[in-house]
Amino acid sequence: MPESDQVRISLEEVHRLTEGALRVNGASPENAHAVARTITLAERDDCKAHGLFRVPFYVKGLTDGKVNGTAVPEIQDISSGLAMVDAHRGYAPLAIRAGIEELVGKARVSGIAAVSIVNCYHVAALWPEVEWLAERGFVSFAFTQYLAFVAPAGGTQRVYGTNPMAFGWPRHGAPPLVFDQASSASSRGDLLLHNRDGKRIPLGWAIDDDGNPTTDPAEGLKGAQLPFGGYKGAALALMVELLAGALIGAPFSFEATESDPREDMPPLGGELIMAIDPTHFPADPQDPLSHAEKLFGRVLSQPGTRLPSDRRYAARKESVSDGVLVPGAFYQSLQEMAAGVV
Ligand code: NDP
Repeated sequence: MPESDQVRISLEEVHRLTEGALRVNGASPENAHAVARTITLAERDDCKAHGLFRVPFYVKGLTDGKVNGTAVPEIQDISSGLAMVDAHRGYAPLAIRAGIEELVGKARVSGIAAVSIVNCYHVAALWPEVEWLAERGFVSFAFTQYLAFVAPAGGTQRVYGTNPMAFGWPRHGAPPLVFDQASSASSRGDLLLHNRDGKRIPLGWAIDDDGNPTTDPAEGLKGAQLPFGGYKGAALALMVELLAGALIGAPFSFEATESDPREDMPPLGGELIMAIDPTHFPADPQDPLSHAEKLFGRVLSQPGTRLPSDRRYAARKESVSDGVLVPGAFYQSLQEMAAGVV
């Protein structure tokens, strides 16, 4: 989209608009603030598929009465290394925040700990939680399922969600190393954004309703998305269903779809988050974090390489000072939403 059709707004404005749109549609201050923070972080790091673009989707979950906008997450202490947060059918961000704060104490004492987030709507990108944990010194992992969009390797019918997994690694004197990736060739949000912007999608992202490869995002949205790397990505999607579904008592992606197939609203789901305190491992002969720097250095010594998360950190520097671009017409509709006009 040409820059002339877009407006530049500050991150404070991103937060204000999102919080306003959720508040006027019935979210409690705590829930509206937590979702607004999630969306602002996504805009800040140029992860548009989880940014302002999602506000109408969050609002629709509230106005249709599907999501409990005033939910208060409840923490259940399961054991020295395990906890569960019941989001009570509210949006995920507030429950995730409660969960990771609980996780820190447990992982510090036990060396390894996990928290499940259940009964929540729409876990967005996973990097905020693994980055937050890695900033506090933990090696961290997160997994979530979604709605059924992805065909298993060799099949043509949707079974898996786009099922992302994220990993965080703390670093001495540098922001954490983080990766966060779908197990499908593209995220759903990217497919939707390509469709909205009239762009073709690469071959390998999706198949149409008849199972044929397609570069048309509209056909791909009707058909099925594909796992990345064929059966290898499909195995990871399967693992995520088991970890963030069966293990923690949350629905599989296909079950979430069967109970409510609407895509314009968030699905009920869950998330598994894990943390390891590296100081619990014997540090002989090298401290793990210093040892890791040798690996990063070796990778970066090759031209054309970068570390996962470097793009986000670069985008962050720019957006904090210059703000972010938003399509003009969409900005107008967000302002109306936040003012309670629509
Ligand atoms: P991408 O393919 O854009 O990126 C995946 C990871 O690879 C990122 O950590 C990225 O770092 C890193 N990366 C990309 N290019 C390079 C490179 N050249 N060298 C080294 N590292 C690189 O992400 P996806 O499209 O798979 O997923 C996007 C987001 O969507 C994720 O945040 C995911 O959690 C979210 N998602 C959420 C779902 C849900 O149900 N809640 C479902 C599916 C996806 P960087 O960010 O710095 O580019």
